[in-house]
Amino acid sequence: MRILKITGSVLAVLLISLLAFFTYQFWPRTVETLADINAKIPAPTTSTGVRISAFSTGYNESPEAVIYSGGSVFETHKSVYSGFIIEHPKATILLEGGVGENIGAEHAANFNAFERQLFAYTKTQTARERMIGANYDPSKIDRVLLTHLHWDHGAVIPDFDGVPIMTTNAELAFARAEAPTNFSIFEEHLNRKNTNWQPFDLSDVPYGPFKQSFDMFLDGSIVAVPLGGHTNGSIGVFVTTDQGQRYFFIGDASWSLDAVKNANPKIPLVQGLVDHDKAQTELTLALLHEVYKDNPEIQFVPTHDGPIVDLLAQFPKFE
Ligand SMILES: [Zn+2]
Repeated sequence: MRILKITGSVLAVLLISLLAFFTYQFWPRTVETLADINAKIPAPTTSTGVRISAFSTGYNESPEAVIYSGGSVFETHKSVYSGFIIEHPKATILLEGGVGENIGAEHAANFNAFERQLFAYTKTQTARERMIGANYDPSKIDRVLLTHLHWDHGAVIPDFDGVPIMTTNAELAFARAEAPTNFSIFEEHLNRKNTNWQPFDLSDVPYGPFKQSFDMFLDGSIVAVPLGGHTNGSIGVFVTTDQGQRYFFIGDASWSLDAVKNANPKIPLVQGLVDHDKAQTELTLALLHEVYKDNPEIQFVPTHDGPIVDLLAQFPKFE
């Protein structure tokens, strides 16, 4: 009888703890929003001859509730490992690129069984495979531009040996310092002998509400801005096409456009796993929320938001 009573108490404590854990994780939260600022993004000087095409290299599905705070536990969200080919008259850019050919071996070498399960996904085709399949010569890619160097972004690096790999100096330094202890960064993405690193610094030229920027061709058609927090040197990239369509690629500052609309951060468990600086990531999200409100004509594109990536012309189509 006594044993039964003790077992009952233990079970009750366990149940209450579980309930508290899930309530804490899934209670809908918003980040503290900024006082109303002017977050208008300047018009591009010119975007003649710029076109863009989207693709993804793999996907997984999970309840929306684990993608952002306040997401539904009943709705399924499709996350993708996406990339974007941007043709500019001066160069063709691969912005992000999803996972590459070595991803299976990289997962096996870097992840334990739990992490492999956590990041399990269905591979479709890599950037290089898609290009070859569409008779689009991969050597057309003049530069690869990455929002940050977590494994699911750096994984395209080995497939483009010799091609300039661009990210911020801050991000490359951060990734190199973190790689030995941070499970989100794979050292083999950083230490390859044939990688042509061409990192850059953001300049102190403001762009809308962003204090720094990097205007790739000095024509306003492709402009990077700081989105620190998720990683120290994370960037977002504004792209304006020949047709006047404006995009804002926000990397992993948020995994869902709905989360930007409603200022919902990731859930605490996930923040602890993937966001390097939680407070800074939330400040960045608050700023993105303002930019979203003040620029309704700009389509935000979180790298992993499947339905949003699907809105763009899908490779080999361009827009
Ligand atoms: Zn990512």
